[in-house]
Amino acid sequence: MSTERTFSIIKPDATRRNLTGAVTAKLEEAGLRVVASKRIHMSKEQAEGFYGVHRERPFFNDLVSFMISGPVVVQVLEGENAVLKNREVMGATNPANADAGTIRKEFAESIEANSVHGSDSAENAAIEIAFFFKPEEIVG
Ligand code: ADP
Ligand code: MG
Repeated sequence: MSTERTFSIIKPDATRRNLTGAVTAKLEEAGLRVVASKRIHMSKEQAEGFYGVHRERPFFNDLVSFMISGPVVVQVLEGENAVLKNREVMGATNPANADAGTIRKEFAESIEANSVHGSDSAENAAIEIAFFFKPEEIVG
């Protein structure tokens, strides 16, 4: 067990429905601490760059359009095993498959508009955090 950081996005479907606080409460209840947070409206270039690993997937263009359809809240989360803990509280990508009590089960609208992003590894967390935050913007 070790303290680590992960990266989270509260997606446009959640900000549109005023669920920023409700989603953040779930993260905090899971033992994660918000050590950086900002509300931004991503550019197309930012969204394409952030989701570059999915460029060849059939849903890529729709995903980029969705992610720039409204504001998002980008966050750095800190805690014991933060990457895994965040993935657990997020729930499965498709809300139909998400466990009860997870963010996606409670809030997601669809497999695309699924309310949150979370890093899938410590390595990707570091890359994703650096994509949106300067070191001095993160206050643990
Ligand atoms: P996760 O966000 O759970 O890590 P992925 O990394 O596989 O999932 O996909 C990134 C995002 O792309 C998902 O959160 C979702 O918004 C969207 N997505 C994934 N699969 C599909 C799909 N089959 N159809 C539409 N959008 C999808
Ligand atoms: Mg992913």
